[in-house]
Amino acid sequence: MAKYNKPLNRDYFKKRDNPKWDKEGPRLTKCCEQDTDQEMLNVKKKKDWELIEDYIEKKLREYSSTESITPVSCKTCGRLVKYQSKIEDSKGKRGWFK
Ligand SMILES: [Zn+2]
Repeated sequence: MAKYNKPLNRDYFKKRDNPKWDKEGPRLTKCCEQDTDQEMLNVKKKKDWELIEDYIEKKLREYSSTESITPVSCKTCGRLVKYQSKIEDSKGKRGWFK
């Protein structure tokens, strides 16, 4: 009965796929507190870096006011944490998006 009328979230499926998965919440990397269950791009991997470049190139083409985009990554493990974009026409004000 317990499983009915309950929202099924990611944790539910993680637990279903791996009964040993602990309900403590996502396990985070020590260096940058990223969810280890999540597939993250890694700037140290050549293939991932190419994807990052492609993404930035596309964004720069799409948004003419974006001057540059910095792929901010963890200095220890290289996981991509976020993209930080610099917007041209807002007096040095920075905008962020993911
Ligand atoms: Zn890290």
